[in-house]
Amino acid sequence: MQIFSPNMLKTFDECQKKYELRYIQKLNVPQPANVFEKGKKIHALAHYYLRGDNIEKFLPTLTEEENNIWQKLLNNEYFQKQYVNSEYNLTARISDFWIGGRLDAFMKSGSNYYILDYKTGAVPKSPEEDYQTMIYLTCADEILSKGWGTNFKLEFIYIDLKNNLNHIIKYDETKKQTYSEKITQTCSKITTAKTFEKNLNCCKFCEYNKLCF
Ligand code: SF4
Repeated sequence: MQIFSPNMLKTFDECQKKYELRYIQKLNVPQPANVFEKGKKIHALAHYYLRGDNIEKFLPTLTEEENNIWQKLLNNEYFQKQYVNSEYNLTARISDFWIGGRLDAFMKSGSNYYILDYKTGAVPKSPEEDYQTMIYLTCADEILSKGWGTNFKLEFIYIDLKNNLNHIIKYDETKKQTYSEKITQTCSKITTAKTFEKNLNCCKFCEYNKLCF
């Protein structure tokens, strides 16, 4: 069963050829490890902390910069809400397609639910229209609706750890409709594509530029 992730849909919109190389030909170009190192450490630490592990032994391994980031996350009001789950895989069916992804954390306060996404780098330029926002909210809404009907509120919070800011996206019926249409449209384009067009405007920093013929 094909599950479309936010990155798959983003990649297809950015360059269809890149989508073909990465997700159909399954060519993975190694990235420099240090690009993701800081983010990975903070995400792992947050997951251990939230699920109740003793994290004392990990703290001395943090650099000063990482420790500052960690303190910002610990003090974030949404990170202090009631824990539901973390590193949590969600899927949902939209029209003929399965979509899914892994949330950093899922928190609650009464009947208000919060999807948290910690960013040690940049927050998406248009957070409301980002596929990550659309897919995670759609999946979480489907799960919550099964248990609570319409008796809950749902928000997506990008926690910008660089600038110590929260970007909040409230989910409602209008967004539900818009997101469903957009996701379905892109999944349909992918599954019916006969050829995958190159987007030559994106080649300069593309990791596939030596493999793309
Ligand atoms: S090199 Fe250019 S055309 Fe090829 S996959 Fe990358 S962005 Fe697309």
